[in-house]
Amino acid sequence: MQAALAVLILLQKLGSLLGRFLHLLPILASLEGKKKPLLLGKKKTMDIPRWVFLVFLLDLSCTTCLSSDSSLSSNGSPASPQKLLDFAKSRDFSEWMIGIRRKIHENPELGYEEFETSKLIRSELDKMGIRYKHPLAITGVVGFIGTGKPPFVALRADMDALLLQEMVEWEHKSKVPGKMHACGHDAHVAMLLGAAKILREHQEEIRGTVVLVFQPAEEGGGGAKKMIAAGALENVDAIFGLHVAPHLPASVVTSRPGPLLAGSGFFEAVISGKGGHAAIPHHSIDPILAASNVVVSLQHLISREADPLDSQVVTVAKFQGGGAYNVIPDSVTIGGTFRAFSKESFMHLKQRIEEVVTGQAAVQRCHATVHFFSEEKPFFPPTINDESLHDHFKKVASELLGLPKVNDMQPLMGSEDFSFYQEVIPGYFFFLGVGDDRGDRNGSVHSPYFKINEDGLPYGSALHASLAIRYLLDQQQKFLSVKGERRDEL
Ligand SMILES: [Zn+2]
Ligand SMILES: [Zn+2]
Repeated sequence: MQAALAVLILLQKLGSLLGRFLHLLPILASLEGKKKPLLLGKKKTMDIPRWVFLVFLLDLSCTTCLSSDSSLSSNGSPASPQKLLDFAKSRDFSEWMIGIRRKIHENPELGYEEFETSKLIRSELDKMGIRYKHPLAITGVVGFIGTGKPPFVALRADMDALLLQEMVEWEHKSKVPGKMHACGHDAHVAMLLGAAKILREHQEEIRGTVVLVFQPAEEGGGGAKKMIAAGALENVDAIFGLHVAPHLPASVVTSRPGPLLAGSGFFEAVISGKGGHAAIPHHSIDPILAASNVVVSLQHLISREADPLDSQVVTVAKFQGGGAYNVIPDSVTIGGTFRAFSKESFMHLKQRIEEVVTGQAAVQRCHATVHFFSEEKPFFPPTINDESLHDHFKKVASELLGLPKVNDMQPLMGSEDFSFYQEVIPGYFFFLGVGDDRGDRNGSVHSPYFKINEDGLPYGSALHASLAIRYLLDQQQKFLSVKGERRDEL
């Protein structure tokens, strides 16, 4: 029985070889026709190169056959995003990723102080055998995975926590009083490490290089700007980033092409008058009245000067002055934030804030100075998503999650320092649901009650990995088709 089976396999293989040989006969015939005039009178020796060529063609034919049997699917694409998601959802994998998130959550570190977080990232990359650069921008880490050659695509996670006392009572509550991961950056790090692990497992499918960007100080410190200055985007063609969204169920994503988040800046103004007795106002110059008029006039900038179709915000969120019921103070300090979706509107707003504060204070005989913190808290540009990366995101995310879970959203007046990357290269930013399916209200980002549904983490890591793998494959195919066109023209 076994002998019969062996003979059958042998015959099958011979048949396959014969098939390939017959397939090549017309090519050989045409070669012979072309070569004949050159080989006249050398009939015996001319057979050798022809047979060498035949062996070469057979070998090429077999190699092509073998490559179609590799890890790539029959249409030449890498493993589907769905397969990567299944991998990320496996018990060991998700427990490992959740463990990392909880460890970082227990030890939150503020911007440019993420030393332990950075150490943990490097130790995980070491375990995976992934090369990295460190330090960039004090605590930043940039990992590399793939061929080490172009094209390059980057995935970004921010690492910093907030000055906030956690009010959620749970086993892995922040162990540092007054500091908390209330914006989910602990989850961002865990998901990017998760993506690194998926990419490592599927390394043979990476048609270029994936750059893993772990950046410090997103919360107002402009860590992205410093990472760029340190060379994090060297050779990189495009960048993807995500943010957790506790108001969306786990596994739902949302974003939009074009403007997504506003550009943002902060201001503080000191309005100085002359203090005195509250019962004798004509002997004083009252900065409280001047500051009050400044606040009202600032609100007119949006309602009377800005185009209603060009969304902008000016909010005075700080007003400090005086301490007694019967004393007019010497000065008042006010401060706040301003937002816009274009650089022009943003810079115009900045100029008008300064003019209104100083001008309105002068009406009340006060003097004012305005400070914009451009060094300590650099202005964030608007987050503008690249249109073609949006198409890429939609395609990959729908394949991974199903189209109903990939939503479009309205722009938000919030801001993100991911926008610094988008000023340099095309970038795409999206939100990933980490809310509760039961409809429980998790605290919003920057709330002391903020919490996330950790079931969302595998989706984030699979999305990161799929977006990168597919992007590189598309880039490679574009490059090959351009090369092919050029060859035709030549
Ligand atoms: Zn935040
Ligand atoms: Zn954040």
